[in-house]
Amino acid sequence: MLIQGLLAVSLSVTGAPAAAAQAKTDCAKVKCLALTFDDGPGKTTPALLDLLKKERVKATFFLVGKAVEERPAIARRAAREGHAIGNHTYSHPSLPTLFDDDILDELAAAQEAIEKAVGRAPAMFRPPYGHTDDRVRYLAAQEDLAEVLWTGTTLDWDLRDAKKIKAAVLRLAERDGVILMHDTVPATVKAMPGIVKELKKRGYHLVTVPTLLRGKKLEAGVSYPE
Ligand SMILES: [Zn+2]
Repeated sequence: MLIQGLLAVSLSVTGAPAAAAQAKTDCAKVKCLALTFDDGPGKTTPALLDLLKKERVKATFFLVGKAVEERPAIARRAAREGHAIGNHTYSHPSLPTLFDDDILDELAAAQEAIEKAVGRAPAMFRPPYGHTDDRVRYLAAQEDLAEVLWTGTTLDWDLRDAKKIKAAVLRLAERDGVILMHDTVPATVKAMPGIVKELKKRGYHLVTVPTLLRGKKLEAGVSYPE
């Protein structure tokens, strides 16, 4: 019994540095790419989380506040499994069309819903439809939010075909790239095993946006990737 206890302790001690090393992928030294998923959590998100876990890949999820209130357990699971969580507003409006107070409300309500579900408010947001301007960023800064856009969008919601989505991701993949997809599009989730396999074959380390940005502190009101 005692030996078993000791063994368990030593295993957990040696396990810890391995996990830390994985979290500290240095994108200055290796080829990194960030897969990002907007609009969830949705019905198809758990299948995506299963795949990412199996492949030991980390991604970034920009969550819609209203959807988080409907599926808080899925949001919590994504955060617990090491994925980065961002704010994608409460009800997914085009922010530049709104008054200042409404923009602040959209961001704040999503912060609140996400914090309630996962225990921590995000440090980054992604504007729905990529619609943004200086005013949106200025107001986001008041919520302590940095803006995160993308280097490549798959238009997966329009393609709705796993083969085409895979081809789009592979075409858009580049070192330090940020790829926009949607975990609410079933064809995207279906395409993901093939996408991950091929990207790994091409030498990519699939990491979260903060890891991609070399762990540098995201500045509120600033837009990334710069
Ligand atoms: Zn969206």
